[in-house]
Order: sequence, then C-alpha cells, then structure tokens
Amino acid sequence: MKRRDTLGALALLLQAPLTLAAASQASIVAVRVWPAADYTRVTLESDKPLDAKHFVIDSPHRLVIDIDGLQLSPGLRELIGKVKADDPYISGVRVGQNTPTVVRIVLDLKQPAKPEIFTLAPVAAYKHRLVFDLHPVVEADPLLALVQEHNKPPAAARRAEAAASAVNDALEELIQNIERPATPVPPPPAPPVVAAAPKPAPAPEPAPAANAKVDRLIIVALDPGHGGEDPGAVGPTGLKEKDVVLAVGLKLRERLQTNPNIRVLMTRDKDFFVPLQDRVRKARRVQADLFVSIHADAFINRQARGASVFALSDGAATSAAARWMANKENAADMVGGVNVGAATKDANVLRALLDMSTTAQIKDSLKLGSEVLGQIGKVGRLHKRRVEQAGFAVLKAPDIPSILVETAFISNPDEEKKLADPDYQDQLVDALAGGIARYFAKNPPMARKRSATL
Ligand SMILES: [Zn+2]
Repeated sequence: MKRRDTLGALALLLQAPLTLAAASQASIVAVRVWPAADYTRVTLESDKPLDAKHFVIDSPHRLVIDIDGLQLSPGLRELIGKVKADDPYISGVRVGQNTPTVVRIVLDLKQPAKPEIFTLAPVAAYKHRLVFDLHPVVEADPLLALVQEHNKPPAAARRAEAAASAVNDALEELIQNIERPATPVPPPPAPPVVAAAPKPAPAPEPAPAANAKVDRLIIVALDPGHGGEDPGAVGPTGLKEKDVVLAVGLKLRERLQTNPNIRVLMTRDKDFFVPLQDRVRKARRVQADLFVSIHADAFINRQARGASVFALSDGAATSAAARWMANKENAADMVGGVNVGAATKDANVLRALLDMSTTAQIKDSLKLGSEVLGQIGKVGRLHKRRVEQAGFAVLKAPDIPSILVETAFISNPDEEKKLADPDYQDQLVDALAGGIARYFAKNPPMARKRSATL
C-alpha cells in the first residue's frame, strides 16, 4: 500500500515535467507564404512566441530552421502545400520532429538567398508571428528591369495600347506638350501660293514652365498600399484594400506605359508586403519623377465617402482627419511586419533622408495633388475639395513630388461596391492618368541630375 503510494507519487513526479512541457508548447494558428521576386516571406502564426534558430547549407541551397517547444501538427504540415511551383526562392518544404521538443523545417531553395528571421508581437488581428524572409543575395537593378520590361510588352499592355489609342485622353496632350521644343520652331517657309492670305499661326498653347526640351524617359513610381500580411482596410463584404489598390495600380501602369516616354516602377506588383521606407527607397533608386501611393481606406464613420488626396506636411496636419489618416497609414509596418533588427541598421540613413528639406517637394506635390484631385472629382465624389497635408511616412522622398490618393472609403458599402467594379476602376485610372498628364504638361521634368540614391 505504502509502496504503491510512493510509486504513484513518483509517477506523478515523472509526468509533471512532460505535462508542463505540453502546456507550455505553442500551437500553430496559421501558416502563410507570400512569394514575390523581391523576396519570399513565410509566416508561422502561433498562440505563443516561437523560439527559432536557423542555418544555411549550400549545394544544394537550403535554409534549416529549428523551432524549440513545438510539436509537429497538421497546421504546420500545411506549409508544404502552400509553397507554389512558381515561388522564386523556395522549391520545396520539409517538416519533421527533430527531437521531442524541436521541430525542424527545411526550405529547399532555388537560388542562394539571404535569410532574415525575426518574430513579431501580436498586433491587429494577428497573434505571435515567426517570419522567415528570403531575399536575393544580389539585388536586381531596378532601372535595368524597367527598361527590359518595356522592351517586351506583355499582351495585356498591347491590348491596352489599342484601347487607349481609341480614346482622346490627356496623355496625348502630355506627349504633345513634352515633345514641343522650348525654343520656338521657325515657321515653315510659306508655300509659293498666290492670293492666299497667310494662315494665322495657331494660338500658342500655354508654354511649359521649364525651358529644357525633354528628351528622356519619365519614370512614375506607383505605390499600391499595404499587401501581404497587411490587408489594409477591409470593406463590409470583405473586400480588401490591398487587392483593390493593386488592381488599380496595375491598370494605371498599363495605361501610363502606352506612352512610350513613360516607365512605371511599381513598389509592388503582387500581393506581398513592402515596408514604408522601402517604398520610398525603391522610387529613389530609379530617380522617379513622381510618386503616387494608392489607397482605399476605412474611416471611423461608415458614412464617410469620396476620394481624398494627401501631400506631406512639414508641420502640423491640415486637419484632424488628415492626421488620423497619416497615423493609420504609418502603422502599416507594424501589421505588415518589419524586421526591426535589420531596420535599425538603416536608421542613420533614414534620419538623414527625413532631415532633408522638403519645402520644394511639398510645393510640387500640392500641384500634382490638385491636378489629380481635379480629375478624380469628375468621376467620383470628393471627400475634401483641397489637397490635405499630414506626416505620411511614405511621402517623404525629399526629391520626388509625392501624393497619397485615397480613392474611396472601402468602409462605405456603396463605395466598396464601386471599388470592386472594373468599370469604376477604369474611370479611376483615367482620372489618375489624366491628373498625372496635366501635372507633367505644366511642370515638365527637368534634365536628370544624378543624386545620391538610398
Ligand atoms: Zn491604406
């Protein structure tokens, strides 16, 4: 009797550590993979923070991640099916229970990659996240990519070209204005026709402000907001801001690139997250002539409707609503997931960037903003009739006129419906392209100065 009690107690003691271990083990809530040429991200979401170590093996290239305090589960195994054949970095995934408490994940890689592994504390709808980002070892030259992309226009772009040529759009006006030499062209010699009164010269159109003939490409940076882990705002029926703004951005790219003088840099052309600072950096690397960030946000009040256009403010915001919106957009990095450890390496560079004078940039941004606002006002309702200003992080490139367009409020049921409608998206694209064209017509891009790129 006594002996059995002792044994029982011993058994309990022996079990205790195992039971405690099981209770402290994390459970996987979700696994997600966001493949893109820029980088592929794998996210493991769990109810408790995960403790991971990693190492890289060559020939063949593999990334091995050991996660302590985790049991192999069906939720984790889902990762295997989530990697698609066209993933630029990952060719396959293996998961296994390496020791009783350690799960090993092996990512087979298609090319050598620079891994970044970090954790994120719970935010918005997410619990704990363990993130593996696979970056290219050598970053592609974005400018070269732009030129190559344009040399091989995809079928869709050719179709758009055909469609656009049928429309007498504002881009035609742009081409004419830009191609017009600044120095007046001497009139052609009068034809030796007798008795005909000389034709009056056509009334001169308003001359472009700059005196340089533009003989270079114009680069427009389009920045569809959010993406990947950051859905942006979500409409009453579940439409996600990140999807709408990407659709509008891609259509706008097609539309703008029907003009052979324009190249478009997309800060993202797929569903993946780009940190705010990287959006600015991408535009600066190609020395973009302007930067347009596209959004469709929610507002506190569901009745709120209409489009708004924002520029940077170097002081206070022009309204409480503008400040609220800037704070909301600036929080995107928290939801999207930024590797803070890696980001601090660039902190000095960032500080230097933000300290640069933005007075001229803001002046040009306001001009661009009012042209775009004027055009959007023709296709939809405006929330505010003037360009608002606040401290949006994504508008801080000191040398690029930059605006953020809230195309509509996705939180408003009527506007959510419109945003999902391809016809309405086309109208928006017309308005954005028209506004951009009018801006360039009045403010032709100057000859390029090489400046330090970040
Ligand atoms: Zn947004």
